[in-house]
Amino acid sequence: MADHTLNIAIIGAGIGGLAAASLLRSIGHQVRVFEQAGQFGRVGAGIQMTPNAMQVLRRLGLEPALRAIAYEPEIALSREFDSGRITNQFAIAAAMEHKYGAPFFVLHRADLHGLLAADHAQDSINFGKKLVSLEQDSREVRLRFADGSVAHADLVVAADGVHSLVNTILFGRQDAVFTGRVAYRTTFPAALLGSRPLDPARTKWWGPDRHIVMYYVTAKRDEIYFVTSQPEDAAWLTQESWSAKGNLDELRSAFSEFHPDVQHVLQCCPDVHKWGLFIRDPLARWSNGRVVLLGDACHPMPPYMAQGAASALEDAAVLSRCVATMVDNGPAEMAKAFDLYEGTRKPRASRIQAASGANNWMRHASEANPDWVYGYNPWKAPLVSMDRA
Ligand code: FAD
Repeated sequence: MADHTLNIAIIGAGIGGLAAASLLRSIGHQVRVFEQAGQFGRVGAGIQMTPNAMQVLRRLGLEPALRAIAYEPEIALSREFDSGRITNQFAIAAAMEHKYGAPFFVLHRADLHGLLAADHAQDSINFGKKLVSLEQDSREVRLRFADGSVAHADLVVAADGVHSLVNTILFGRQDAVFTGRVAYRTTFPAALLGSRPLDPARTKWWGPDRHIVMYYVTAKRDEIYFVTSQPEDAAWLTQESWSAKGNLDELRSAFSEFHPDVQHVLQCCPDVHKWGLFIRDPLARWSNGRVVLLGDACHPMPPYMAQGAASALEDAAVLSRCVATMVDNGPAEMAKAFDLYEGTRKPRASRIQAASGANNWMRHASEANPDWVYGYNPWKAPLVSMDRA
């Protein structure tokens, strides 16, 4: 436990922010989370939690609850979009845990988020707090919110996502870049598939310039999820928000050359959301003074390796280890802790960002050795300063 108490503010109650809040509190600090949304919504989305992410969720005590609600597929398949030919397959249930020491679950994103949020007292998550400015000096950070309120903190963790305001405040305006691609995604009751149920595998169907991933999101296999990636005209961004309802006819038409199994799922799907996919170049630094970035705020990536939230969880674990090395609350100790955090996390996050962008993860058996991703344990990774990274 820390022998001094920091007053820590976390901006953003996403997966990264909530995990960081729990872990920093667990080493003895006072933590408040500020979230712009008025409440948490339940957007229809699944999420894959690979063994490296599960190392963090396990430390948070969530593994038993995850085992009860999440789905653990027997196998993951890569299939050609039209013929359905299997180009790669790897075992998940039991095999992952045996090899990497932690399981690989898939589940509803809101269920994961709900478990992370349940770890916090009601009053430690402050909703309706949209950060609009941040100033710091050698003693503290002052945070101003859109409702006119102000908060003070010794240390600020900015987990405010891909469009991070804090990133802009610290390092100047450098907007996240639209990749020219969108993801349609939704969850819906498996019963809507009628007499042609979803294959129990976690399957990615690979087309020439688009793909679709499908899996069950509950242990009971009563709800399914799919997520696509396909080209989209940048004009769409100016017409609609970056996250909007998708048009089902457009989606079905975009995948009309895919295998009948895919088309059946799209035909039965009642509703869908459409998300713009954004990236940023790796940043030179992730921290400035008393403020440090975490998750998509510093290393957003296309979702093609299912590692964005996993990386945010890894960040949270490593950041808590680095903050635990501080022997006092002064700026010099904070700078050392952030230096260790960046030195430990940046090389790995940048490598995953680059590998995600290539979008060939596990497509063919010859390209696939997931050990460096799934075998990583953020509790055991050596802490390395920036000059040795
Ligand atoms: P976010 O989840 O974006 O959270 C940021 C939070 O900050 C939000 O709650 C937001 O409201 C809040 N906020 C923003 N600005 C402010 C402000 N000014 N003031 C206050 N609050 C603010 N990752 C995986 O590991 N596995 C997967 O299977 C996977 N699938 C994906 C599928 C798709 C289609 C997409 C788009 C992403 C996927 N990801 C996946 C990536 C993952 O969703 C992100 O990497 C992850 O959500 C990042 O978490 P975060 O906490 O950094 O940011």
